[in-house]
Amino acid sequence: DQAMYQAKQTGKNRFHLFDADHERAVRGRHESIARIRQALADNEFVLHYQPKVNMRTGALIGAEALIRWAHPERGLLAPGMFLPDIETDPTNIALGEWVIAAALTQIDTWQQAGIEITVSVNVSANHLQQADFVERLQALLDKAPDVPPAHLELEVLESSALEDINHVSKVIAACADLGVRFALDDFGTGYSSLIYLKRLPVHVLKIDQGFVRDMLHDPGDLSILEGVLGLARAFHREVIAEGVETEQHGKLLLQLGCEQAQGYGIARPMSAEALTAWAQGWTAPVAWAQTGQLDHQ
Ligand code: C2E
Ligand code: MG
Ligand code: MG
Ligand code: MG
Repeated sequence: DQAMYQAKQTGKNRFHLFDADHERAVRGRHESIARIRQALADNEFVLHYQPKVNMRTGALIGAEALIRWAHPERGLLAPGMFLPDIETDPTNIALGEWVIAAALTQIDTWQQAGIEITVSVNVSANHLQQADFVERLQALLDKAPDVPPAHLELEVLESSALEDINHVSKVIAACADLGVRFALDDFGTGYSSLIYLKRLPVHVLKIDQGFVRDMLHDPGDLSILEGVLGLARAFHREVIAEGVETEQHGKLLLQLGCEQAQGYGIARPMSAEALTAWAQGWTAPVAWAQTGQLDHQ
């Protein structure tokens, strides 16, 4: 009886301890959400852009918008530092709409400077699943009348597209009716079955950087990558590799028949102004233009 009483006591204490920790975590998260909401009002968020190129022709084909927080005390913060805190909070939707609006403004600015590119925006699962997502996207497009909707691409994680495939496939189809493109981000990590891919009317499969990074030394990753390229061909989807860090990565991808790429080996994410200058000066490595595709493809 004594032992049982002690166990109960310990259990209870542990519960209290956990409770206090939990409470502190919740309070911390609430403070963080409030701070992020304030930062949105104070215009502290910025978009950086990472070029997407055709490795064979050297053409700039697009740019991915990646959010950063220009924090007045802590400097430029990466999305992993603040997005998880608002994942399930309405602030997530407000921030997501800010990103789309800012990207549309940037497409317009580039267009006026003679740079015609598609800009991709990452959309969270929670945002995409809002009942009025399509209507509100339409309203944002209406505010940017000079931007062709096909110059906007939305990237959604393969894993979150699978959360509610019926609903998500309808949303993607409705956005496609507006002219907006869709890409499945981090493709290959979400374990889509073929039937799912058939039902998701996305334009682009974006091969996860993990497979690209490891394909040079891991035959398993190389096989997955070849499989994804085969799937893209079979379903008539475009394909882009992310995480292209070296010339060697580019060369192998070209041999396998993948021409579109994004990665530190081409350019890091940068400010919109820096990308404008970069676009004028960049040329693809000579080796890439000379790389032939493997015969069996
Ligand atoms: P993602 O959409 O898969 O974006 C690619 C991430 O990989 C970016 O990190 C980019 O800087 C990084 N990256 C690009 N090339 C290379 C490379 O060659 N090697 C390596 N190691 N990394 C590379 P970042 O900017 O920290 O973004 C991380 C994630 O945060 C993004 O992954 C995306 O899921 C999310 N995110 C970024 N901006 C937004 C946004 O505006 N809204 C939402 N909902 N999510 C965003
Ligand atoms: Mg992305
Ligand atoms: Mg990705
Ligand atoms: Mg990722």
